[in-house]
Amino acid sequence: MSQIPVSTAAAETLTDVVTGHGASAFRAAQLRRAVWQPFVVTMDDIHQLPAGLRGALANELQFSTVTVAAETEADAGRTVKLLCRLDDGQTVETVAMETPAREGSRRRATVCVSSQVGCAVGCPFCATGRMGLLRSCTAAEVVDQVRAASGALHRRGLGPVTHVVYMGMGEPLAAYDTTIASLRVLVADAGISARRITVSTSGVVPAIHRLAQEGIAPTLAISLHASSDELRDRLVPLNRAHPLASLIEAGMGYARQTGRRLTFEWCLIGGVNDSMEQARGLRDLAARAHAHVNVIPMNHIDDSPWGPPDRRAERAFLGQLDGMVVTVRDTRGADGEAACGQLRAALEQRRSLRPDGTLSPPRRAAAV
Ligand code: SAH
Ligand code: SF4
Repeated sequence: MSQIPVSTAAAETLTDVVTGHGASAFRAAQLRRAVWQPFVVTMDDIHQLPAGLRGALANELQFSTVTVAAETEADAGRTVKLLCRLDDGQTVETVAMETPAREGSRRRATVCVSSQVGCAVGCPFCATGRMGLLRSCTAAEVVDQVRAASGALHRRGLGPVTHVVYMGMGEPLAAYDTTIASLRVLVADAGISARRITVSTSGVVPAIHRLAQEGIAPTLAISLHASSDELRDRLVPLNRAHPLASLIEAGMGYARQTGRRLTFEWCLIGGVNDSMEQARGLRDLAARAHAHVNVIPMNHIDDSPWGPPDRRAERAFLGQLDGMVVTVRDTRGADGEAACGQLRAALEQRRSLRPDGTLSPPRRAAAV
């Protein structure tokens, strides 16, 4: 009999399994809570359960669907990148980033999860897009990435996970069922509120409409990258099926329905989407949608002539966004392998924009 992943098993399933071994039903609730303890790494670590029961459960329930195949650190140990191996031998990247408390902002620990092995969208600036789509993750694989990251933070003496972003490998709204099922578990069992969870999408318009009706409202980040269809068709090939007007309308509908402020992400590529015209287009779209703008200078990827613009071009671009709520994820200076393959963003280096187009020091960063 194949094992049932414990992290996503329904409450009734766990109760059936536990009582099937002659234990009281309350053991199921104990088990459900215990799997979220960062220091619990195998079924045997759940000392509240009788040893005999632990052994029996280990045969029937799969404690985790991911194993950590490699772990690397950056930012003096505050960023941990995990290579998570799945049961079929595929691997995905997961990143945990701790940001200490600062004046005006609380400590946070953000986990960046992958929703797919590879991605079918094929954005030309993205390392994951180069792989094509191998398969989607299961909900348990997403949830178990968060548990693995939580354990990695704990081993370094760092605190609990406060935020989750679906910004690793894959397009979360193309793996819709996985994303919804994993979101529900993160909110209900891990106790991470939906407003602290961000789903980043390249623009699967029908799925945005659907997500607005789910009754669970994560923050939605739209990977815009271009403010004209002509350029966006090239940078995000999905745009040919779901052009900008339909995407912005879906995003605004989502914001209306859920009361959540949208985020527009913009991977800034030197000589490609850093023109004043593109910046003004972005400003107009963000003003219309009341969206927060997140600018990410492009990380170099192998065999691509593209990269981030120089500082002057970046400042000129940001200068056009005067008056908008803008954060910049400054990835320059981050260690080579700091984060989600393509993302590699040192999230704690968020800075906010001054009216003159310069950036305030990270300490004064705008809250996201
Ligand atoms: N597929 C989803 C989520 C994963 S990508 C999406 O596209 O939104 C998460 C973010 O990283 C996206 O905004 C994506 O455009 C950005 N990204 C991808 N490659 C990048 C690169 N080389 N440099 C900077 N950001 C990148
Ligand atoms: Fe896929 Fe997002 Fe990468 Fe585009 S940026 S290829 S949608 S993972």
